[in-house]
Amino acid sequence: MLKFEKILRANSYSVTKPRRLVFEYLQTCDRALSMRELVNELADSIDRASIYRIVSLFEQLGIVQRIRLGWKYKIELSDLFNHHHHHATCMLCGITFTLTENAKLEQLIEQMAETIDFTLQSHDIEIRGTCTRCTKNGPKY
Ligand SMILES: [Zn+2]
Ligand SMILES: [Zn+2]
Repeated sequence: MLKFEKILRANSYSVTKPRRLVFEYLQTCDRALSMRELVNELADSIDRASIYRIVSLFEQLGIVQRIRLGWKYKIELSDLFNHHHHHATCMLCGITFTLTENAKLEQLIEQMAETIDFTLQSHDIEIRGTCTRCTKNGPKY
């Protein structure tokens, strides 16, 4: 059984077609999506309210993780389905870049947790700024 199905069944949820569709679509994405992008993409097959419900269930079950960007957020599959990574988001055009893993940084975070005898479970680091293209085009404000 797929890990995705296992998680749903272990929590007494069935693997419905819409749930599978949302999961499969997220699997094809190489970057985090806003809810609007996800809804637009799946609007032909699943209604908006169901997409929101499914994403919120997935979040609760740890299948999906939320990337907080001030008052906005994006979503992507959690580290259970992805390599652990960090993001950089352009605050002008809104594109979220996936950064390559950095062993030194990960080690450092573990060491920092150790200094206070803290058992590390997860962490996220979000970098916000301006992408190359937007920097070249100059400020919009
Ligand atoms: Zn940009
Ligand atoms: Zn990390």
